Amino acid sequence: MTATSVSTSATTAALAKYEPVIGLEVHVQLLTTTKAFCGCLTRFGSAPNTQICPTCLGLPGALPVLNKRAVEFAVLASTALNCEVRTRSVFARKNYFYPDSPKGYQISQYDQPLAEHGWIEVPSENGPKKIGITRLHMEEDAGKSLHEGFPDSATKSYVDLNRCGTPLVEIVSEPDIRTPDEAYEYLTRLKEIMLYTGVSDCNMEEGSLRCDANVSVRPRGQEKFGTKAEVKNVNSFRFIRSALEYEIERQVEVLESGGRVVQETRSWNAAEGRTFSMRSKEEAHDYRYFPEPDLPPLMVSDAWKREILTAMPELPEARRARMVREYEISEQDAQSLTATREFADTFEAAAKRAKSPRRVANLVQSELMGRLRAAGLELEQSPVTMDGVVLAADLAEEGKLSSKQWKQIFDVAFEKGEDFGVVYEREKPQQISDTATLEKMIDEVIAANPKQVEQYRGGKKTVAAFFVGQVMRASKGQANPALLNELVVKKLDA
Ligand SMILES: [Zn+2]
Repeated sequence: MTATSVSTSATTAALAKYEPVIGLEVHVQLLTTTKAFCGCLTRFGSAPNTQICPTCLGLPGALPVLNKRAVEFAVLASTALNCEVRTRSVFARKNYFYPDSPKGYQISQYDQPLAEHGWIEVPSENGPKKIGITRLHMEEDAGKSLHEGFPDSATKSYVDLNRCGTPLVEIVSEPDIRTPDEAYEYLTRLKEIMLYTGVSDCNMEEGSLRCDANVSVRPRGQEKFGTKAEVKNVNSFRFIRSALEYEIERQVEVLESGGRVVQETRSWNAAEGRTFSMRSKEEAHDYRYFPEPDLPPLMVSDAWKREILTAMPELPEARRARMVREYEISEQDAQSLTATREFADTFEAAAKRAKSPRRVANLVQSELMGRLRAAGLELEQSPVTMDGVVLAADLAEEGKLSSKQWKQIFDVAFEKGEDFGVVYEREKPQQISDTATLEKMIDEVIAANPKQVEQYRGGKKTVAAFFVGQVMRASKGQANPALLNELVVKKLDA
């Protein structure tokens, strides 16, 4: 996108003089079957106002009962984010009127949240950096106002209350983030941890993960924070990066032209690539928080916490480190192989039954993923199964297939929608494994390259690879690689 690249270079100029200070508030919907304080389903996409009851509508006399599963998910998420879970936390009423919240208040947590003092480590320009997490608290979601899509939408709005009372956690970061890239990394890791722990599906299109950003700028070297703006309604991580770039630039421009940044809430407009003012601080709510009288304090005993944490999976960072060690793969490979927990599980299951896990990693990266992307397919839709990849890796490892040959088989497999093994069995490549034939080809290459022979015999043993490559080329990729290697060295040492 042109707009993004222009704004990126302008941001670079702005960043020379000013330092951005960014804090993120992320709302994550917990993956419970039922709501936070009643038995209504949380299913997405049902007919409007079919998953509601007196409790989530806040009708008089209805009393909330806390969903145990929601607490378990919140404790799991807190711990995975390195937070300390408080033994005692308190629900509070956040009072405000809005048509999508018929109760007139939201049950949230205020001065005694479930968890505090966590962090997420992100890569930054100066190496790994810990972004602090101030708090993680539990709360309920509101409904949804529908302003479009009805015949009378020009004059009327409708409301769907199905989402009222759906359990959320709000994760508030410290103002530790200094660049839009760090914000992007923080969110990527946060989402990954939520997915790995299974507490949320983090589906941004369905609103399961929502992010607001607080951003201000200050002259470099100044300790005091500048006036912040809150950017809302950003529904993808890429847009958050763009919105932050835009907002930083805007604030720097205001300051550079002698103006003053106004504390306000701004909304991101993706189509126009800019933020615009929604409301100023003067219009901000006073929520008149007070402890929720219908719910007792939430007590999480050490015993319960221990029980909950037995469900803690190996987290992405730890898993990557182990995979690098165990399979001797690169950090970068480990990064992409652990993009999701399911993908990492699939890879590891395959790696464990292959002769060389490293080869499986390489083939997945070099042959499988690129072709899937090009064809617009998910891993589950791949014509080449993981069994096919393992077969390819084993054949390669045993020297029965050259890179040229396995590439050809992958090509045919994707072209015809067949598995690797099927194509291999049918079109088993001609392989020259006849010693005499190979020796004759090696002799020719040796005769044609006296200089390299001299180098080899002068002690530069790596030149052997040159001869292997030349013979492989002459054989149109059909020479048995293992045998060829052996014979080349034998000939050169003779
Ligand atoms: Zn309900």
